[in-house]
Amino acid sequence: MSFNAKKSIKIFDTLSNQLQELKTLEENVLKIYVCGPTVYDRPHLGNARSIVIYDLFYRFFLQIFDKVIFVRNITDVDDKINQTAKEQNISIQELTQKILQFFYADINALNVLKPTFEPKVTENIPEIIQIIQKLIENNNAYIEDGHVLFDVSSYKNYGKLSNRKIDELISGSRIEIADYKKNPLDFVLWKPASKNDDISSVFQSPWGDGRPGWHIECSAMSFKFLGENFDIHGGGADLQFPHHENEIAQSCSAHRGSNYASYWIHNGFLTVDGEKMSKSLKNFITVNDLIKTGINGSAIRLMLLSSHYRKPFDFNQKALQDSQKTLEKFHEIFDEEILNKIPENQTNKPSSEILDFLADDLNFSKVLAFLHLQLKALKATKNQEKLVEFIENLKFLGIFDKKFIKNNVDEPNSQSELSKNHAKIDVNFIENQIALRQQYKIEKNFAKADEIRLNLSEMGVLIEDKPNNNTIFTFK
Ligand SMILES: [Zn+2]
Repeated sequence: MSFNAKKSIKIFDTLSNQLQELKTLEENVLKIYVCGPTVYDRPHLGNARSIVIYDLFYRFFLQIFDKVIFVRNITDVDDKINQTAKEQNISIQELTQKILQFFYADINALNVLKPTFEPKVTENIPEIIQIIQKLIENNNAYIEDGHVLFDVSSYKNYGKLSNRKIDELISGSRIEIADYKKNPLDFVLWKPASKNDDISSVFQSPWGDGRPGWHIECSAMSFKFLGENFDIHGGGADLQFPHHENEIAQSCSAHRGSNYASYWIHNGFLTVDGEKMSKSLKNFITVNDLIKTGINGSAIRLMLLSSHYRKPFDFNQKALQDSQKTLEKFHEIFDEEILNKIPENQTNKPSSEILDFLADDLNFSKVLAFLHLQLKALKATKNQEKLVEFIENLKFLGIFDKKFIKNNVDEPNSQSELSKNHAKIDVNFIENQIALRQQYKIEKNFAKADEIRLNLSEMGVLIEDKPNNNTIFTFK
């Protein structure tokens, strides 16, 4: 079967509200920007779903185009960060570093690839100031009471992404009304620092000390790494308004004549047992909560991909168990002997059918059905070539996981005496926790370091400090 996905990739574009054939601006090059995490809290399942979905898009595009530039930013300046640091009585830097470590530990467990660029707001303040200056020069922004605000009335296409009129937007959403705004929809590009602000969230600007608003960060960073025009912009459905609407207004006003992103992709919400996830409902689940119970990251990944990316996904224990069972089934065919026979020089290319299904607006359920069929045929024939193809498919999708292979002994390492019962606890997670504890010790924050030791102990992991800053762990 010859694969022709390059000529016929279809994605649902929120801007035109229809399925579109993907045509890149530059031949064989795909440029994509996805809004990344605000690092004030450990990633919850909704965050993880978005990350995993765009990771699958990325893996697919890497197969199709000669060059893929994927930018996923990190928001490390934000009111929520300031507030959380205050609540936890730690510095902003301490909070963002800690959360970033958690973020990487969790997404690594989900087999998420590293994007091409991962810019942080704190490292791009000059670029943000530049684009704000341009908006002021172009009469799209005004300075009022220490704030710089975007003047929504200056951009005639405002509302084109959310497909609503300006007055509907005002009445239909929670817009902050403030004296310094000319129009309730005007939004902050730069806000002044308060007296008690942590110094690491205060930056100098031509308009006084302060920090950038959230929306302008993405306009500045996408421009820096992808230029005025690029192919795809993605994010969660909850970002469509106002965040993405504001990004378009800013970027198209700063760079006159530009279209910003050609296509917009939005992934659906995540609910828990049919309800919206929220801290007040006590159904707020992080990736780490599941990993701590011994669930494999690859099973969480498969679960998060199992319903179509644009549809809402409901998390429940059955969905998780189903994914765990599916992966057990997919790995049943392998044993040590088979794995040893698989050649080293794998192509890491999936079956052409899989690329065809993904080219159809990322139709993952067809991919899953195909894998089941492939497995069935394999069981009957044990054909070596097909076996290699199957393993490459699992690897491509990020769901090949040696932990599911029966009698598998992990690669020898210093911790190789793990008892089988404990092998389920993610070693990466423990190592990350030890690294974080090390960091706390360096900062002389012994209370936090001890908290980590106690948490690990509760999970049945004992740690022991050795000379030369070496820490080893054993299972109780
Ligand atoms: Zn954004």
